Amino acid sequence: MNAPRGTVAQLECEDCMLAAAQLHHGFRAGCAGCAARSAARSQHFFAARRAGSQSWEYRELLRLLGVSHEQVKAAYASDAMPSMQQR
Ligand SMILES: [Zn+2]
Repeated sequence: MNAPRGTVAQLECEDCMLAAAQLHHGFRAGCAGCAARSAARSQHFFAARRAGSQSWEYRELLRLLGVSHEQVKAAYASDAMPSMQQR
């Protein structure tokens, strides 16, 4: 397998690696990378990016998932899906 571009995020599990390479909707319970990716695909993350500030819903999501905004941004950067949709 080719190395994913850059070393943006730590790829935590097989689902994380697949998602970095292709459109993939698998998430693994207990995986921080998957939790961050699920937040990165949420409407709250898109709203936070657009507004440039974090809503309480987004902060609550981060708290529930146990991930940081930095982790979510890293997951977003390494997820193959957004770049396919927004180009
Ligand atoms: Zn994972």
